[in-house]
Amino acid sequence: MLPANSFHIAFYIIAILISFTSLVYTMIQQRTDRLQNKLFLSMLLVVVLNCLSVIVCALLDPYKQDSQTAYIFLEIFQLSYFIFHAMISPILLFYVCSVIGIIDQFSMRRKLVYSLPLFLIEFFILLNPVMHWVYYYDENKEFTRNWAETIMYVVSIVLIVMSLYYLFRFWNAINHRRQMMLLYFFIVAIVGMVIQLVNINIKSELLGESIALMGLMLAVENEDDRIDADTDVYNRKALHLDLNNFFVTKRRFKVIVVHIVNSDIIQRMTGSANLDILVRLAVKYFQTIVPRYRIYRANPSIFVLVCIEEDAEQIAKKIEKRFEASWGYQDIDVMLNAAILYASVPEELTTHEDVFFMIDSPLPNIGTDKIMHGNALNYLMRRGDVEGAIQRGMAEQHFEVYYQPTYHMDGLKLHGAEALLRLNDPQLGSVSPDEFIPVAEQVGMINEIGNFVLRQVCSFWQSGVPEQNGLESINVNLSVIQCMQPGFVKNILSIVDSFKVPHENLNFEITESVAASDYNILSSVIQELKQAGFLFSMDDYGTGYSNMQSVFELDFDIIKIDKSILWAAEKEGTGRAILENSARMILQIGKKILVEGVETAEQIEILRPLKVDYLQGYYFSRPLPKEEFIELIHKRKECL
Ligand code: C2E
Ligand code: CA
Ligand code: CA
Repeated sequence: MLPANSFHIAFYIIAILISFTSLVYTMIQQRTDRLQNKLFLSMLLVVVLNCLSVIVCALLDPYKQDSQTAYIFLEIFQLSYFIFHAMISPILLFYVCSVIGIIDQFSMRRKLVYSLPLFLIEFFILLNPVMHWVYYYDENKEFTRNWAETIMYVVSIVLIVMSLYYLFRFWNAINHRRQMMLLYFFIVAIVGMVIQLVNINIKSELLGESIALMGLMLAVENEDDRIDADTDVYNRKALHLDLNNFFVTKRRFKVIVVHIVNSDIIQRMTGSANLDILVRLAVKYFQTIVPRYRIYRANPSIFVLVCIEEDAEQIAKKIEKRFEASWGYQDIDVMLNAAILYASVPEELTTHEDVFFMIDSPLPNIGTDKIMHGNALNYLMRRGDVEGAIQRGMAEQHFEVYYQPTYHMDGLKLHGAEALLRLNDPQLGSVSPDEFIPVAEQVGMINEIGNFVLRQVCSFWQSGVPEQNGLESINVNLSVIQCMQPGFVKNILSIVDSFKVPHENLNFEITESVAASDYNILSSVIQELKQAGFLFSMDDYGTGYSNMQSVFELDFDIIKIDKSILWAAEKEGTGRAILENSARMILQIGKKILVEGVETAEQIEILRPLKVDYLQGYYFSRPLPKEEFIELIHKRKECL
């Protein structure tokens, strides 16, 4: 026959199964290292122990009259039930505070004050075998409540109300899903309590708590959508949410941004699988400096470390030092170049947007200084100003296309021109394209700007002036970002054809600097436009990126050797050898060569024996406004 209280036991068993499963699952998921995780696990453990105590009590209860041993054990487990039960609401308060992210700001004193009720109640409970303040067994061995149990209830209610108070006060510090789940937790737990309070025979309190904790496990503790799959640290979305939390709770912290600058090149050289391995090694290293849960991958090659107490400067230096050594794995051994930025909130960065601005802004040309902070970050402000200037420029026509002529080596006759964009802002003055083009790329205005240049060039060609003066083509710079846009080829065709410009009179210049993953798109865009009759030039040959492969693979008509290569070749020596060999190789594969940055007659003489086809540079002319350029070609100023 079933014992009379088997109904109670069934409730407890379900409760224990649910809590225990949640406990095991959380451990398997290894979500154990944050304070929040630890508090959550303690709540689960407390509920499990609570259930165990109460089950033993329920099993022993029928035998307490006949067996003294059963009675003694009953008393012991009744006591342990109270010991554990009293812990739930204080832990809950700390848990809620850590989920909303304010617990780190609690002083030791506040933590102590909030723990005081727990100590007090545990004190009552531990004294209970002697004092019987909380409960006692009467002469019929019936369980009877005493005054201290009322205090226990009151304290629990106060703590739960405090938890709710914090939850609502910092409601915006957590995302919607967590808001809902925490509310759900409270509702289910409170309903369980109330039912049991109304009818002592329905043991729903622990069951309610177990179910609520399971809900928290699924929605609050679960971090699958916050984790970067490749590296196991947090992703960009998590960074957004956590920063939001930090700002809402007015936390002081420091942000360290580590850019792995050469990841594209490494990916090209060693393949993306190896890059992943190297990045994981770097992440492992970061974990030796800050806890796992303060590391974010904001971009494939940008990591963000958030420090609360730690000294950002020291960490930055440490990271810099580590990146001076190579990263090895099996047979690869590679140097990762890192640029490190750090700033404090709220002193240097005041908003969530500021932080992401710092993370996402393209780096200025970093010199030998790998670490940037304080004044070195002023370029960020400037970047914001430049963004404004671009917006104004587009709305109020501050952009102008200049033309710089190009010449045949043979007889130094005019060959064509390169269109170069100028921005003259009323506030900032003239802004160099080296500065505003990267910003425009980043804020998504490069398409508009590119279309503007192309229209200007087409309209110039349509006027007939260039053709009548013997220009063969006009070169238009394309940003790789532009080329990646869907519908790019169609867009180019529709603009050019609306001006009826013959395709062979336009030569597109590209600086090939894309990540390996985008390489195929770029190559097919070039293919399509070449088939439509346009010409292509590779810009900036010899400046760092592994152009060699692209020279072979992408179908360029002209390779533009960068001015730095020419300038380095002025004296006999390595520089000269690089120039000569580059030229020889390009000729061998049957492409034409243009050398830019020609400033002196001596440079022309260096280039003449190398069978360079075209020249461009200040020696002939600086980039000129259209009217001045027209004057120049009218004069047919053929130098020498
Ligand atoms: P780039 O395509 O390599 O353009 C050549 C740059 O070298 C131009 O600078 C030009 O003024 C400069 N230059 C030409 N000859 C000489 C010389 O003899 N000596 C010296 N010291 N410099 C010379 P600029 O106009 O400031 O343009 C800088 C970069 O901005 C360009 O480099 C190009 O990458 C980008 N850019 C300019 N206009 C556009 C555009 O319309 N669209 C895109 N996507 N990028 C543009
Ligand atoms: Ca160019
Ligand atoms: Ca160039």
